[in-house]
Amino acid sequence: MKIHILTIFPDFFDAFLHTSIIKRGIEDGYIDIKTHQLRDYSSLKHNRIDDTPYGGGAGMLMMFPPFFEAIKTLKDDDTHIIMTSPQGKLFDQQKAIELAKKKHILILCGHYEGIDARVEQFVDEEISIGNYVLTGGEMPAMIIADAVSRLVPGVIHEESSETDSLQNGWLKYPQYTKPEQYEGYGVPEVLLSGHHQMIETWRKEQSVKRTIMKRPDLIKGIVLTDEEKKILQNVGKKDV
Ligand code: SAH
Repeated sequence: MKIHILTIFPDFFDAFLHTSIIKRGIEDGYIDIKTHQLRDYSSLKHNRIDDTPYGGGAGMLMMFPPFFEAIKTLKDDDTHIIMTSPQGKLFDQQKAIELAKKKHILILCGHYEGIDARVEQFVDEEISIGNYVLTGGEMPAMIIADAVSRLVPGVIHEESSETDSLQNGWLKYPQYTKPEQYEGYGVPEVLLSGHHQMIETWRKEQSVKRTIMKRPDLIKGIVLTDEEKKILQNVGKKDV
């Protein structure tokens, strides 16, 4: 899958593209993440890409022509264009799952006061990463690219993303690693039992308990299985 990012600060992405899982995903050919310099699509002196807003007001706005030209060059039939914006729909795991099925995503990064509104006609959707305003779309673009990349088959073990928090609605069960005991702090017995079925049941219960405790708001969005309904009823009776 291709994730291309249009930005005036490609350097921002250096560490992101050259570290850990994303680096390996690119090297192994599972994902193709590239940045494109918006200034390369400016025809103005010094590759200028911003100017003051019509009608007055503070700050600089990114101009329409460089985006128009860049989109014309970079877009093909399969390209899904995303504009990062605090005005967009809130990004979540469901959106990441949906985007991971696309062949080519092009993410537009704004800066300063944002982008000339004519660009909106050329985007498939606007995405916000939260209800706050950032200085630029570079970190949102990295967040979207990161969340989507780890869902592309091959980038991480698929089994690992299947049980991740939010992937199926629930938060993930607690996990422990070696040592088994440290300064009197141990790990739950059941995990050492080697009893696969008991471990599965314990994990499912823990997922439900954690979700009730930490993110009760998530539960109304989940279509409950019979097993989950039973656990919820029992959790209600027992100590959470
Ligand atoms: N003046 C604009 C905000 C511009 S912020 C407004 O009031 O709507 C500058 C750029 O940062 C935006 O163009 C966008 O690319 C990015 N950005 C800022 N906050 C964001 C958020 N919460 N989610 C996604 N992108 C954001």
